[in-house]
Amino acid sequence: MDLTLTNNSFQNFNLPIKIVESLKKLKYTNPTQIQSQSIPPLMEGKDVLAKSHTGSGKTLAFLIPLLAKISTQKSTGLILVPTRELALQVFEQVKKFDQLGHICKSALIIGGTPMYPQVKQLWARPNIIIGTPGRIIDHLDKKTIPVSAINFLVIDEADRMMDMGFLPQVKDIISCLPKEKQTVLFSATFPPDIKKIAHTFLNEPLLIENQEKREKPKIKETHVEVNPNFKGDMLQKLLQSESGTAIVFVKTKHKTERLAHMLAKKGFKVGQIHGNRSQNQRQNAIKSFTSGESRILVATDIAARGIDVFNVSLIVNFDLPHCSDDYIHRIGRTGRAGLEGKAISLITPEERGLWQRMGRVSKSISF
Ligand code: ADP
Ligand code: MG
Repeated sequence: MDLTLTNNSFQNFNLPIKIVESLKKLKYTNPTQIQSQSIPPLMEGKDVLAKSHTGSGKTLAFLIPLLAKISTQKSTGLILVPTRELALQVFEQVKKFDQLGHICKSALIIGGTPMYPQVKQLWARPNIIIGTPGRIIDHLDKKTIPVSAINFLVIDEADRMMDMGFLPQVKDIISCLPKEKQTVLFSATFPPDIKKIAHTFLNEPLLIENQEKREKPKIKETHVEVNPNFKGDMLQKLLQSESGTAIVFVKTKHKTERLAHMLAKKGFKVGQIHGNRSQNQRQNAIKSFTSGESRILVATDIAARGIDVFNVSLIVNFDLPHCSDDYIHRIGRTGRAGLEGKAISLITPEERGLWQRMGRVSKSISF
């Protein structure tokens, strides 16, 4: 693998031995750049706002210091993320550490699943609570979350969490937490207006911007101009010419259903994920895509943030996203951890203006 790891060693971070050993067992030999930059200040207790490329290892950059604090200082962390799937992914990462070193107890607090088992998890006094804002608020209303213990707050995909859709909920949650706490915000993108909002939640934060060129994901970006009526045919051709796994991003839930059915009818092994599917269906779709049982995942932007599936070869923007940052997150599902990837956008005449405004350096191809 060609992930730009630093020469630094996890041992230099003054971490508890259990954590260093667990990292070794999990085959993490050296920290990535963002891990090297974030772990020391986070261990010192600083607030941090960190921006670094998709697939550069941000999860461990905040998890390692949190796990260290839990083992040495009885900390309790709350990790907020925008989607249930990302919450589950972070939860599973935490569980791996716990299985190896009994480092922490964690609770997964997401919508689409019954409340009571979550209440039981919360009663067990977890050291890490990982969740999505809506369900966390439900529990705050019921007073089932041990708020006074929380002294480490992570907001992953922070720019998404502070946009118009999520900000009121995030503000509500923060207003329930103790003032004395460490707050850390991570994302691959931070528009300036959101950065300003972010600062209101932080106390003398350290800003880390890791935009080195050599760290940039190696994603070959292309686009193809297409008449809207031929998009489906073009997609089939594209997917037939590709042997690896692909995520196809679509604008609406309804269109996701239709496109997935069309592809299944044509013989593709396809799964789909969008907000109108049940939590079981959503989890199964990710599971069968991860295991390779389905080669194609048709998705709305629900799958654009944070999802880490090993070696996705191709991202197709069947419809363009709303803005350049959303595009960066979508294509960032490939080219992760130093691997190479491809992204192709289908552009109709109506989308041409939007595409130009996004200003991507992308080669035009014909098919
Ligand atoms: P980001 O949040 O920056 O998009 P992730 O935290 O999801 O990235 O990590 C991307 C991939 O890189 C994951 O599969 C993760 O296991 C792997 N990874 C993270 N840190 C390291 C490391 N130090 N060494 C090797 N692989 C790593
Ligand atoms: Mg991430």
